[in-house]
Amino acid sequence: MEIFIKILYVVAAVLFIFGIKLLSQVKSAKKGNLISALGMLTAVIAILLKMNFITGTIGLSTIIAGLVVGGLIGLILARQVPMTAMPELVAVFNGVGGGASAMVALSFLYANKGGSLETVTAVTVVLSLIIGTLTFSGSIIAFLKLKGWIKGEPIVFLGNNYLNLALLLGIFYFAFQAISLSIININEQSLLKFFILMGLALVLGVLLVTPIGGADMPVVISLLNSYSGLAAASTGFVLNNLVLIISGSLVGASGIILTKIMCKAMNRSLSNVLFGGFGQADSSSQQGQSGEYENVKATSAQEVAMLLESVKNVVIIPGYGLAVAQAQHAVQELTTLLEKRGVEVKFAIHPVAGRMPGHMNVLLAEANIDYDKLKDLDEINNEFKNTDFVYVIGANDVVNPAAIEDEQSPIYGMPILNAHEAGTVVIVKRSLSPGFANIKNGLFERSNSLMYFEDAKKATEDIIKELKEL
Ligand code: NDP
Repeated sequence: MEIFIKILYVVAAVLFIFGIKLLSQVKSAKKGNLISALGMLTAVIAILLKMNFITGTIGLSTIIAGLVVGGLIGLILARQVPMTAMPELVAVFNGVGGGASAMVALSFLYANKGGSLETVTAVTVVLSLIIGTLTFSGSIIAFLKLKGWIKGEPIVFLGNNYLNLALLLGIFYFAFQAISLSIININEQSLLKFFILMGLALVLGVLLVTPIGGADMPVVISLLNSYSGLAAASTGFVLNNLVLIISGSLVGASGIILTKIMCKAMNRSLSNVLFGGFGQADSSSQQGQSGEYENVKATSAQEVAMLLESVKNVVIIPGYGLAVAQAQHAVQELTTLLEKRGVEVKFAIHPVAGRMPGHMNVLLAEANIDYDKLKDLDEINNEFKNTDFVYVIGANDVVNPAAIEDEQSPIYGMPILNAHEAGTVVIVKRSLSPGFANIKNGLFERSNSLMYFEDAKKATEDIIKELKEL
């Protein structure tokens, strides 16, 4: 049985790695997801066999009840949560993952009460508790911010970073105390140190995320994702469980790689995201930033269709609004129609467009838009100068020229899609209201810009109708 369980561990690890590999391509992502889930099922079976759960004290009925309840919650969430609310869901997943790791470490302490721990085990318990608790409270704050239940903008107060430093020092002190006491004896006194440690980590998690807001939120979500993996890996060491160490490390490593990619996409360093406070330096001028617009020219489906009649190439820039309106199928129809008329159509994908990494890729793939037409920022940015027509559909921050022209702007330095360089830019959105970063977008006032105030799906369908009638 021992050997069989070890083989299952290896199978689970291989399935995880293979699944992640497939997830890196849109075409194979679905398969990658299934293979990773199969890996998790294999790991669960291996653990159940190892702990002798099926015949042991907990019993098969309890396990089945747990699987049914957990599976049902997962099924309902997967079906109900719209794609646009994915970051909130990921934040919750990170939070419960971190919290679960901390709870397992805590129950391990109680299971060993009266005894003592080896130094290595005590260190890993402490790590699990700190990272797990911090991830839990940080993720809850991220969830509340993304949901709009608390202020989305950075909440910063004087001495915020000093307080964080003091908390960190406190954590080091109590971690040392907890380890020194628990290697002698786990009793009320040592348990108290562990609880203080958790309390400090809980507060630190809150204070680490409250100053982050605006366009920096994707970075913090992927960082918390990485933390949840690290917490699981440390819990794996506590329990001496190989498969938990492997899966936790995979999540930790992929989360940190994603964080790096997101930082690059925002042209921000990680320390700047964590300690800078998005837009904090110019919060006083924020009002001016999101102020009134002048010389905005509105357009209609008929005018857009007429313009499209005479263009040779079109770049479509999708953003969050495309996801809200579920306009991907209409966009696909428009693409086919234009191509039939001999127009070259490409899609410009910004790495943080939408509300989750790869959001636009997923939506466009769902509408069967050829993956080869999707161009990354680096690939397409030089082409805008020679583009006749840009169709910005539900995107805002990712095409805001302030990021390259206005040093005072909170998004200054973030790479954007240079839509403003094209011949004509039509921007489809319902109003002049700002995007996620909550700042004014000068693109709307440009002489080559036309605003089409309409829901993204309805606008695209109306353009298609007009084009067909021409
Ligand atoms: P933005 O949030 O900047 O703008 C989206 C625009 O879509 C809004 O201005 C809104 O204007 C419009 N919109 C909303 N609903 C509709 C609709 N039904 N039809 C037409 N338009 C609609 O989106 P971008 O994609 O340009 O940028 C993404 C932003 O989100 C960045 O700031 C990024 O940092 C942040 N972010 C990204 C994450 C990621 O991982 N990708 C995660 C979390 C945040 P109106 O209301 O007038 O219609």
